[in-house]
Amino acid sequence: MAVLKLEHVYKRYDNTEKKLFKKQVKNDFAVKDLSFECKDGEFIGILGPSGCGKSTTLRMIAGLEQITAGDIYIGDVRINDLHPKDRNIGLAFEDYALYPPLTVYDNLAFNMRARNIPEQEIKESVERVAGLMKVDELLNMKPLGLSGGQKQRVNIARALVRRPGLLLLDEPLSHLDGKMRQQLRYEIKRMHHEIKCTTIIVTHDQMEAMSLADRIAIMDIGCLQQIGTPLEVYDDPVNVFVAGFIGEPPMNLLKSTITSVTGGYMFTFEGSDLHVPVPERYNHVVKDGMQVTLGVRPVDVLIAGEGEHSGTPIPVAIYEDLGDERRVSVRVGENLLNLTTTDQVYFNPGDIISLRLNAEKTHLFDIETGNRIRS
Ligand code: ADP
Ligand code: MG
Repeated sequence: MAVLKLEHVYKRYDNTEKKLFKKQVKNDFAVKDLSFECKDGEFIGILGPSGCGKSTTLRMIAGLEQITAGDIYIGDVRINDLHPKDRNIGLAFEDYALYPPLTVYDNLAFNMRARNIPEQEIKESVERVAGLMKVDELLNMKPLGLSGGQKQRVNIARALVRRPGLLLLDEPLSHLDGKMRQQLRYEIKRMHHEIKCTTIIVTHDQMEAMSLADRIAIMDIGCLQQIGTPLEVYDDPVNVFVAGFIGEPPMNLLKSTITSVTGGYMFTFEGSDLHVPVPERYNHVVKDGMQVTLGVRPVDVLIAGEGEHSGTPIPVAIYEDLGDERRVSVRVGENLLNLTTTDQVYFNPGDIISLRLNAEKTHLFDIETGNRIRS
């Protein structure tokens, strides 16, 4: 078990290769000023688009990559200069890297044998992790005969053999297809529940992060954007990036001009007649003519009933019935405003509806910085 702490961690790769070709390469930081803490036994997800610095972060924690600046602690020990094997970390990457000629048992035993641990002790450890990751039936098989999901279970079991204080998983589910992915996600969750090992999973898949992690650290271009529980990052995104990254279908993010009207303000949109009231709680932070990004999730765009006070009549652009929910899009200037509903509503393109927003669930963002404007 371990507490992990990152303090102002930076990573810059030396792009010597690119310099050879005399290209103008902006040798920027792959990870910038990254600070966060994992509590003992906590399951943290690092989530972000490809290239945002997730694997680099994990590799620095594991000791596979030099830290350019900053400090990493496990408990009270600063581990910057500690050899990877002395960090008591278990690692499982997307690639299984199992030794093909060896059986699953021998793969799991490999590192312990290299350290001359008595065979009886090895056997106990192998059986323990095999039970934990449900690979007991596979111990006599060779990797070639295993499915992707089975290989990854063995891979994770191998990471757990030494009872690591910290388990690091880098995109362990990426190679797998739908059903297997969900199955292994469940196995990882169950495993963590059983052993409560401090765990970090790196993923670009928000569903994976949301379903597995106690807290999610969302990164973009090397920087931590927000860290919080799945509900916090969903309900209370700190900026446009997090707002747009979390949630499926994604949050509507529309450029809007605030217009003063009798008794309050309206959101108006370029190239569209649509106007919706600005919730009163924003009255003291907006002013006439101010430009903002309005964020509202598709579930919080509501179709106004007859007689209900509503905005502009607007034609349906796209209607999709997905069985358990329906998706409706309307055109707002050059953009689409999407809504989802579980109500039994049926439209054809061109049908006129009127919309209102769930006032409690509207978010305003600064048009320049993208930061949340609090009410
Ligand atoms: P992620 O795992 O989020 O997809 P990475 O941590 O792998 O992102 O990469 C972050 C950035 O660092 C990217 O711009 C990537 O091109 C760069 N990078 C990663 N590894 C190396 C390396 N060994 N040498 C140079 N640049 C690298
Ligand atoms: Mg990666």
